[in-house]
Order: sequence, then C-alpha cells, then structure tokens
Amino acid sequence: MYTIVDYKHLGGLTHEMSVEAPQLAKKAQAGQFLIIRINEEGERVPLTIADSDAEKGTITIVFQAVGRSTDELAQLRTGDQLADVVGPLGRASEIEKYGTVVIVGGGVGIAPIYPIAKSLKAAGNHVISIIGAKNKDLLFWEDKMDSVSDELHIATDDGSVGHKGFVTDILEEVCSKGDVAAVWAVGPMIMMKNCARVTKPFGVKTFVSMNPVMIDGTGMCGGCRIQVGADTKFACVDGPEFDGHQVDFDLAMKRSAYLKNLEAEGRQFYHD
Ligand code: NAD
Repeated sequence: MYTIVDYKHLGGLTHEMSVEAPQLAKKAQAGQFLIIRINEEGERVPLTIADSDAEKGTITIVFQAVGRSTDELAQLRTGDQLADVVGPLGRASEIEKYGTVVIVGGGVGIAPIYPIAKSLKAAGNHVISIIGAKNKDLLFWEDKMDSVSDELHIATDDGSVGHKGFVTDILEEVCSKGDVAAVWAVGPMIMMKNCARVTKPFGVKTFVSMNPVMIDGTGMCGGCRIQVGADTKFACVDGPEFDGHQVDFDLAMKRSAYLKNLEAEGRQFYHD
C-alpha cells in the first residue's frame, strides 16, 4: 500500500497529492508517468509525475477530478492509502544543454512541465517558462515554476493575472525574438497543437506530451496509439513525448472526444 503524505486542493477540479513510493522516487525522471489504482477493484489511472523527492521517498501527482476514478481519488486525504503506484513508465524527456529553451504549461499541464523545466535548468539551459490557465484561481505553482526559470510569463484567458489571452500568444512573441533552441508544451491537446503550429515556421524543435487513454501502460493493449508522421506509436512506451510537428493532433483529438462521451456516461452511472 502507498500512503498519501500530503494533499492540497489547487483550485477548481485540480488536486495535488504526494505519495510515499521510495523506489519510484529514486528512479523517476522528467517526462515519465505512473499508473495508480485506488483499490483492488480500481481502474488503472495514468498520471504524469509532477515532482519527486528521492530523499523523502515521495512522488507528487496533480490531477483533475473528471471521471469516476479521479472523483474517488479526490476524496482521499493525508494518511489514506492507494493500492498500487506503478512506475516510472514511459521514456524520459530528452534533457541536454540546448541553449535557450521555452517551456509551456497549460492548465493542469503546468504540473508535468515543472520537472522538465527543473531538469533543463539543471542541465545549464536558459529556461523561459510560459504558464497559462483560464483565470487566476486556476493557476498554480507560480513559485515553483519561477524557481526553475530564468524568465516566467503568465497568461490567463480572462486577464485576471498576466497577459490576457493564450500561452501561444507569448510563445509566438518569444520565438520571434529568435535564439530558441527547443520548446516543450504540455496541456490540452488543442494547446499543444497550436504551440506546434506557432513554432513550425521558426523551425524550432517542439516536444509535446501526449496523454491518450491508456490501459496497461506497458505497450501491450494498443489503446494509446497515436499517429506520428508515417508511424503508429504507443504513447506509453514510445512516448509520452513526441515531435509536435509530426503528431496527428486532429486524429488524437477525435479519438479522445469519442472516449470522453463514454467517460461522461460512466461517471453519470456511478453517481446515480
Ligand atoms: P484549459 O482548458 O484551462 O487550458 C489551459 C491553457 O491552455 C489556457 O489557459 C490557454 O493558455 C491554453 N489554451 C487553451 N486552449 C487553447 C487554444 N485553443 N490555443 C492555444 N492555447 C490554448 O486546460 P485544463 O482545463 O487545465 O485542461 C488540461 C488538459 O490538459 C486536459 O485535457 C488534460 O488531459 C491535459 N493534460 C495533459 C497532460 C499531458 O501529459 N499531456 C498532463 C496533464 C493534463
């Protein structure tokens, strides 16, 4: 069993939890994910690792309560236990010294972008971070992001803090100044698609973190397949990070919209 050692409500549907998982905390690298099960009958929920502390033996997850399992997870508090925490899974981010890098986190995607920014900063890069949310109350981890960034830009859709508009507005401005060697974008698929659209004319390598529905997380079921250029890839073992200029976002969004309807039906059934 894996004990929850810290819980915070970050705003809206978003929750943060730190969980005791010493083996996993020792090995976790930026960009990787884990799969949890709340109890023995629970479904497997994949979540990108938002932080880890090898000394304390803890990992941190940030999630939105948007379905039956994440609603149940959001009810748990410090001292409660999870049946399984499996990982680290997937390939780590390609961390190296690029020069100037831009990190874009949208909404709950701010959490998984943090370890990427932290590792890129530690590797000696000049890190420009851009984080965005619908409004000031849904924004989180500004301090953590600031601590691993040389520049931090904030955007909110309603302008309640920072730039009024999308993270892509700031990304375009930063790229047009030149000198950007690589971009990482994590957030809603439409945001990642638009980040890749913005960087393409500048010829800047752009990594996006794909989170299609996953079942086993080890490359066996094929549920998380996505199209990347001419190849079909499995997000769980080939990713989750891919070249944003090669990903077929329209296909990925179509598949995830289809499954969202089923998820909503399942949630309704559970709550009735
Ligand atoms: P959101 O809808 O509030 O959007 C967050 C930000 O993304 C916005 O504030 C804006 O700056 C940007 N954005 C939104 N639409 C855009 C557009 N059309 N063009 C350019 N930028 C746009 O986000 P949310 O409600 O927090 O949803 C988070 C989503 O992120 C979920 O769909 C979740 O599945 C996904 N997610 C992905 C990962 C991953 O590893 N890829 C991890 C966590 C969450």
